[in-house]
Amino acid sequence: MSGIKSLQRTKKTEDPAASASAASASTVSAAVSAAASEPAAVPAPASPSGHSDADATYDSIEGKAANEGESNWDRIATSFDDMNLKEPLLRGIYAHGFEKPSVIQQRGILPILTGNDTIVQAQSGSGKTGTFCIAILQTIDTTEKYTQALILAPTRELAQQIQTVARSLGHFLGLTSHACVGGTVVRDDIKTLRDGVQLVVGTPGRVYDMINRSALNLNRCKMFVLDEADEMLSLGFKDQIHNVFKYLPSQVQVVLCSATMPQEILELSQNFMRNPKLILVKRDELTLEGIKQFYIKLDSEANKFETLCDLYETIAIAQSIIFCSTRRRVDELTEMMTQRDFTVSAMHSEMSPQEREEIFNLFRSGTTRVLIATDLLSRGIDVQQVSLVINYDIPTSYEKYIHRIGRSGRHGRKGVAINFITERDMANLQQIERFYNTQIEEMPENIKDYL
Ligand code: AMP
Repeated sequence: MSGIKSLQRTKKTEDPAASASAASASTVSAAVSAAASEPAAVPAPASPSGHSDADATYDSIEGKAANEGESNWDRIATSFDDMNLKEPLLRGIYAHGFEKPSVIQQRGILPILTGNDTIVQAQSGSGKTGTFCIAILQTIDTTEKYTQALILAPTRELAQQIQTVARSLGHFLGLTSHACVGGTVVRDDIKTLRDGVQLVVGTPGRVYDMINRSALNLNRCKMFVLDEADEMLSLGFKDQIHNVFKYLPSQVQVVLCSATMPQEILELSQNFMRNPKLILVKRDELTLEGIKQFYIKLDSEANKFETLCDLYETIAIAQSIIFCSTRRRVDELTEMMTQRDFTVSAMHSEMSPQEREEIFNLFRSGTTRVLIATDLLSRGIDVQQVSLVINYDIPTSYEKYIHRIGRSGRHGRKGVAINFITERDMANLQQIERFYNTQIEEMPENIKDYL
């Protein structure tokens, strides 16, 4: 990207609430664990830093430059009451059902609230949405109609979900928000945006389109959040993200959420962020907490299907997701299960947005109970009822494993993950086990007791 350097921002944002928040926050000692989670493919040997870092501790590390794997913010607020939030926002948070901030919220809301560019490195399921939504809701001046915050997410579903959460948390604030995503009527988007929306949550393509059509004006946007930034880059949104940046004021506060810190994300942070605070939460603390992980060893691929049918015939599960490696595998499995009279639905990236949304809504509302999907679904989407995730095909990277399993044990909720493996997958499974310092046991007879 040629224009990047010229887009670099130079001025530092104000730090208005720093002292107030500092007073109510205490130092994390020996609690912040660094775990630089490289998006390594599973077959690669687990990175040594992946293990040793996981146990690293810090006393006071504020002031350090944000680097891969190192937090540089050490203040926490263990209660929402300690965050100096507006009263209606606080009410909204409690009404939404959040009683106590999650680990990432305890650490991540304050640096954003105090005006810092912030990198939140944590897996999905950690409460990242709440982190940036609460900070945004606190920052937006509801008496001004213009767009004050923009959140970009990689998928329509995630963008819509974020907007729903923001609307709910901000229920008592009387603020306007809009999900600006592809697959909806452009005309409607234009009208809504021109009427004035204080918070826009969108996917890069549609948002950029709206900017180009002069429907979305970001001249006075105060905050810009990139959610699942690593995923956005891997989906090829780099140019669109850079393009959107060009339309943001140089003073904009940038929040970047990413599960991993690959080189591209570091570059993004260097080019577009000023002295960012890095909030890092240990991966295993978040993602595998409360999740029982099992494997079923199979003699051959051909045995997978019968085993799956047996499993569904013996256990009663509220909702489950079956992950396959490719779209074709999803289609095949869907077809085979349907022939066996299982009611299943399928979702993958080659479906139209309408189809995806319909299927996802049916699943979210509980109308369908088994969803067969590719990794498309594995990130960020919050399906609370899911108690079981089946890796029909073992994922091809550590990241994907965590994201898939993250479906079932969100924010302390219990869940079960079952990996179908053949002989050649065994080594990969062991790599995953070592990488996350976790246990994946052979599925016991009494699996029912775990569900
Ligand atoms: P997220 O990572 O933002 O998608 O959040 C994962 C899940 O945790 C969602 O179901 C949230 O509703 C839930 N969650 C996030 N923060 C809290 C909190 N402070 N208290 C209770 N649940 C939370």
